[in-house]
Amino acid sequence: MKHIAIIGNGIAGVTAARHIRKHSNHNITLISGEAKYFFSRTALMYVYMGHMKWEHIQPYENKFWKKNKIDLKFGFVKHVNAAEKSLEFKDNSTLQYDKLIIACGSKPNKFGWPGQDLKGVGGMYSKQDLETIETYAKNNKECKRMVIVGGGLIGIELAEMMLTRNIPVTMLVREKSFWNSVLPKGESQMLNEHIKAHHIDLRLGVNLESINPDQEGTVKSVTIKETGEELECSFVGLTAGVSPNIDFLKDSGLQRGRGVKVNRFLETNIENIYAIGDCAEQKEPNPNRPSVEAVWYTGRMMGEAIAQTICGRKTEYNPGHWFNSAKFIDIEYQTYGWVHSERRLPDYEAQFHWRHPEKWICVTLSYHKETHEFLGINTFGIRMRHEVFDRWLNEKRDLDYVISNLKIANFDPEFFRHYEGDILKAYKNQFVSI
Ligand SMILES: Cc1cc2nc3c(=O)[nH]c(=O)nc-3n(C[C@H](O)[C@H](O)[C@H](O)COP(=O)(O)OP(=O)(O)OC[C@H]3O[C@@H](n4cnc5c(N)ncnc54)[C@H](O)[C@@H]3O)c2cc1C
Repeated sequence: MKHIAIIGNGIAGVTAARHIRKHSNHNITLISGEAKYFFSRTALMYVYMGHMKWEHIQPYENKFWKKNKIDLKFGFVKHVNAAEKSLEFKDNSTLQYDKLIIACGSKPNKFGWPGQDLKGVGGMYSKQDLETIETYAKNNKECKRMVIVGGGLIGIELAEMMLTRNIPVTMLVREKSFWNSVLPKGESQMLNEHIKAHHIDLRLGVNLESINPDQEGTVKSVTIKETGEELECSFVGLTAGVSPNIDFLKDSGLQRGRGVKVNRFLETNIENIYAIGDCAEQKEPNPNRPSVEAVWYTGRMMGEAIAQTICGRKTEYNPGHWFNSAKFIDIEYQTYGWVHSERRLPDYEAQFHWRHPEKWICVTLSYHKETHEFLGINTFGIRMRHEVFDRWLNEKRDLDYVISNLKIANFDPEFFRHYEGDILKAYKNQFVSI
């Protein structure tokens, strides 16, 4: 029986702990400096919005951990001493381990902006961030305006949160069109319109120059670099992406890049130490997968894979085709395979885009220019079935086949209006092969 220590009780660490328990009698200690009990990070926004209470976003009852003999330790690890197989905590206590799983997640990016550490400036990542937001953006009497720096998925969540309390929002986005580093032009354009339709003051193609304090050292305004304009605000949300939260590992001897470097088995360069979830960086990522994957389901998959390895069945992390989903205020977004933005478009990729003339609905399908092989799909406002696209990607179906059979992939309830006929018609107008 070994002692397995896990740094981080997010989805990656918790999945590893649960699955190690399922398959073994190892002693397990699950460590976090954020919250004693696991919660669903993706549901943080719903607590602020009043849709859920804190206890609703904790998927397991507090007694679950004791019942399953998983020890919980609340505290920040400040140093990993790999030679002695020991962890040192901020309160100077220590913990010995036989095997260590690092699942310490991400942190919001800060780019050295003047004023980035003022009171009233924060990210939207942790329980503590939510508490800060609740303090500085409590209501629209005390918070006259929030400025969000950075677009993307978390920025738009933060904006939606503010809308529910009628707090005016300005978003400063460096790109010329919202999230166009990831999305094709037509989709990004639709999101610009959708965001503005919600009376969010979306400023595109601008950078933050500085965050300015009042006399008490609390944020009072921001200055925009390009125009010199000073915007008064009571809170600044930093949502310019996230990066692995690995600063505390700098003297550990672990090989690091953007994250903790791992092989396909999630092993680091040090024996008996593994890294999973947002903080892991694949040395040789699977084809068509990013080297750092900061999404929920990949954390879960890595947790499952590492548990197998620790329990004696060495298992590769093999996530299959890329997929993801999110929400942009009222619009649900799903992606399967790869549909590249203009900036990242490979030579071989072409795209077919369809947008509903009145509603916030569109799809983009990508395909190989020469072979017409289907490469991926983005959908906005239409729910699709993951397993169908996974199969079509495996079967290397061509674009004609996918568009003709789209209704098989539709996951919207029966009484929803379906758009496959409109999409097919638009496609036939553009291509003659069907
Ligand atoms: C607001 C928000 C919305 C999101 N929405 C989605 C979504 O809709 N879909 C999706 O796929 N993904 C979403 N994500 C991303 C997803 O939540 C993350 O990919 C996932 O939570 C990462 O899990 P993890 O277990 O790797 O790390 P984390 O959940 O970050 O957990 C790591 C834990 O380790 C702790 N820790 C770090 N260092 C130490 C240390 N030195 N000592 C002790 N403890 C430490 C941290 O405090 C944290 O509690 C969202 C993220 C955010 C912030």
